[in-house]
Amino acid sequence: MGLKSTSGIVLKTFSYGDTSKIIRCYTRDFGKISLIAKGVKKSKTLQIGYLEPINCISIDLYYNSKRQLQIFSKAEFDHPFLSIKNSIKKLSYSFAVIELIDKTVSGEESHLQLFNLTKNILSAINDNRGKINTIFWFFQLKLLNLLGFKPNLSNCSNCQNSLITANFFSGELFCDKCSTVKQIKLNKNSLNMLKSINKIKIENISKLNIHSIERKEIGEFLKQYYSYHIDGLREIKSLRVMESILN
Ligand SMILES: [Zn+2]
Repeated sequence: MGLKSTSGIVLKTFSYGDTSKIIRCYTRDFGKISLIAKGVKKSKTLQIGYLEPINCISIDLYYNSKRQLQIFSKAEFDHPFLSIKNSIKKLSYSFAVIELIDKTVSGEESHLQLFNLTKNILSAINDNRGKINTIFWFFQLKLLNLLGFKPNLSNCSNCQNSLITANFFSGELFCDKCSTVKQIKLNKNSLNMLKSINKIKIENISKLNIHSIERKEIGEFLKQYYSYHIDGLREIKSLRVMESILN
């Protein structure tokens, strides 16, 4: 067991006794891990300030793959995401991002693309690099791709004809002819917009302009798609909390 360094995004923290904290972290090198920061609540080093959800930190830790709980040594900020913390909307979407990571990543396996995606998304939200819901949908689509649940936006699941508009039910998209139940409809613009979000680079996301009908359809489609394909994800709690605050 040696001292290692990595970069990590704090997902959740729990108090442990009167003086310690347990931190669940999505790290660049070790995947999702839990660490114990002994005595951190009483420490004068102010390390506790780094150990808050959404923070991206450089961590020194004593790592042993056979152990469930790793030992935290110290941290400093990679990125404090200060602007996220000054906005309820940014905070809610950022919590939704880490909630999705927490619920879809299970083990201690490093996945550099997924780690970088998460970090870049939080940076994009922090730095206002586009409309916040578009950034979130971009994240949801990329995450589905990386998890192997990429939606087929081009062809009907039944007849394989090209989709012009689409109907979502039972986890898949169908053309108008093959649809009997119309659960969620995606009009032509929504479908094209989803394809554009899929293709665009994050730095160009502000160029996408999505009208309200399409925003509604896309948001609802992705919500239902996750609920259907990802176990334990009937809803994203962080977004429900925000909706109840803003409405
Ligand atoms: Zn069809």
